[in-house]
Amino acid sequence: MRLRVNKQARILEVDRESADDEEFSLLKGFNFISLIDESQTTAANNFIRSIFESNEVQLCRLELKIRLDANTEYLCVGIPGNDEECTLVARKVFDIDKERKWIANSQARLRNLFNRMPVALALIDTSGQFKAVNPSIEKLFGYSAQELAGMNLKEIIIAAENEKALVDRIKASHEHNVALKGVKRGGETIHIELSGRSIDENAELINVFIFDVSQRVRLEQLKQEFVQMISHDLKTPLSSISLFLERVGLGKYTDRQPEDLMSKANAIHEDTVRLMRLIDSLLTLDKLDEGFAKPDKKAVSLADVIEISINGVIDLADSKGIVIDEQYDELTVSIDRDQIVQVLINLLNNAIKYSPCDTHVAILTKRLEGDQIEIRVKDQGPGIQTELRDSLFDRFARLRPGLASDGTGLGLAICKAIVEAHGGTIGLNSTLGAGSEFWVRVPI
Ligand code: ADP
Repeated sequence: MRLRVNKQARILEVDRESADDEEFSLLKGFNFISLIDESQTTAANNFIRSIFESNEVQLCRLELKIRLDANTEYLCVGIPGNDEECTLVARKVFDIDKERKWIANSQARLRNLFNRMPVALALIDTSGQFKAVNPSIEKLFGYSAQELAGMNLKEIIIAAENEKALVDRIKASHEHNVALKGVKRGGETIHIELSGRSIDENAELINVFIFDVSQRVRLEQLKQEFVQMISHDLKTPLSSISLFLERVGLGKYTDRQPEDLMSKANAIHEDTVRLMRLIDSLLTLDKLDEGFAKPDKKAVSLADVIEISINGVIDLADSKGIVIDEQYDELTVSIDRDQIVQVLINLLNNAIKYSPCDTHVAILTKRLEGDQIEIRVKDQGPGIQTELRDSLFDRFARLRPGLASDGTGLGLAICKAIVEAHGGTIGLNSTLGAGSEFWVRVPI
């Protein structure tokens, strides 16, 4: 590049023909010294001065800060002109080591970006074969990078079409992600969304982003169940309450017997109690989810916890002629008494509710290794089908077919949330037709 500068080093002209770069042609009007790295300002000033003073060609290596990436070293030749102007010819000093380092650094930066992306990212070829994967994809699917290197995208995705057609579908997904199911090592399926882009001109390599949307899908299901629940559990009693009040307001009950009216009013009262219980349960679950109901653990006697729980359900048990057997260890445990009592009352209540009259329900405790206590609630009721056992602790589980329809369907979900907030686990053993046994294990 060739520049004409004055005595004050202002650039008067840039020879466009010899300018290596578009950016150099924009330098007209700038001061040459302002383009030099600060550490070399004196050297640059001396260089310009000596061109004018000596009236001889001068040489100097200077670092120019024109480019975005880094300072670049130039060999500058100063050719004297007249008293007011001189010519500078600057040629980039090509430092192969420096260039190599710069390329290596950029590659390392890209690799870091790829590896640290919190989203699963893979590079595949047009037949779906993995060419590179980041650690997020290893974590999501449970395969190591080495294993994935020999695999095809189709092996971790459930899709009807063949490998190539699947890749084409993902490639075409510019606006919308492709929603599919993924299969983890071990067979567990997850909901995923994929989006892909060709990264080279020949479209032979495709960058695929894989998002795990299982939680979102689960939330959408919960929302749907919630809407169903609202329409059934809240609307049904509310409509009978509203109908009753409307009829009272219209004087339709004036000619009825007081007993008739009382029984109607009692039924309506039961509806309101059930509504309130449902709203209470929803609020409790919400508090537990948000962490507002963290267990307030204190040392309490296990015997007290069992007694209080039994007292909470004794009237219901008596009304069905059910005997509650109890056996517990004399222990002091560190738990949130009210919360664990709530769990046990729920389990005892279910055991009584779902058992035939005149049977036995038992509550038993056992100290386990590792400072844990196990509390079991056993009944002689109908038992629970194996395939329903896992989902029983989900919210509104009773909405699923085959389950009894009395209650809120939230009791076991609350139990699970409380027990897990204590760092414990909850589960059940059941033989269809011979009863159920719910167990709770919590650290003490
Ligand atoms: P709810 O009892 O209010 O419906 P829960 O979450 O407490 O809600 O229970 C969910 C479902 O699990 C119940 O609807 C019932 O079908 C079943 N269940 C719970 N406990 C028992 C039990 N001891 N025996 C048989 N079925 C039970």
